[in-house]
Amino acid sequence: MTTSVASSEPDLSPVPVAGPCGAAIDTCRVADLIAQLLVALGEDPAREGLAGTPDRVAAWWRAFLSPDDAATATCFTESQLSDQLVIVGGMSVWSLCEHHMLPMNLQVTAGYVPNGEVVGLSKFGRIAQHYAGRLQVQERFTQQFAEHLAGVIGREDVAVAVRGVHLCMSMRGVRMEAARTTTVHAGGQFRSDPVLNQQFVTLAAAQWNAA
Ligand SMILES: [Zn+2]
Repeated sequence: MTTSVASSEPDLSPVPVAGPCGAAIDTCRVADLIAQLLVALGEDPAREGLAGTPDRVAAWWRAFLSPDDAATATCFTESQLSDQLVIVGGMSVWSLCEHHMLPMNLQVTAGYVPNGEVVGLSKFGRIAQHYAGRLQVQERFTQQFAEHLAGVIGREDVAVAVRGVHLCMSMRGVRMEAARTTTVHAGGQFRSDPVLNQQFVTLAAAQWNAA
């Protein structure tokens, strides 16, 4: 006897949710198009296993494209603090490559030099989720993360390193499963001070090796 576990109902409520470009996500239309895609792929969307698939896929797109807003800056005054390097690593987010619409896993490490105030640590994860929840390329994600963090601290002294695993490289095309793509943004002091830059890169690599 097979026991099936009921999954929670997909969220297809008509409350409009804006996607990354600001336009509303039409979840019902997405479900309809997924059903059409199944037909175009030679499937029968009415068969038992696929009955709820279009709604589930549409609900996933809606959730993926509307992650928590990263707009609220959370900084805490630490007036005595300076000359310290802060690095937050181990942030893992899933995004979608916009060239193939296949998943990419991004391991993110970000750093900055505080000057009188510190950034709330959970803010880093929110920034990562915010820019991962859209059709993306790793290079632009890295830039957007860095620009957002620079905006939060009001200076360019930020560094971001991202190591990506791209399914468009590992399950299609060249099929290189071990391939990793690394992108690094170094701004302000991280660009002008080679010692600080090297510290960041070394600590970022250590985060990845420990993962
Ligand atoms: Zn791709």
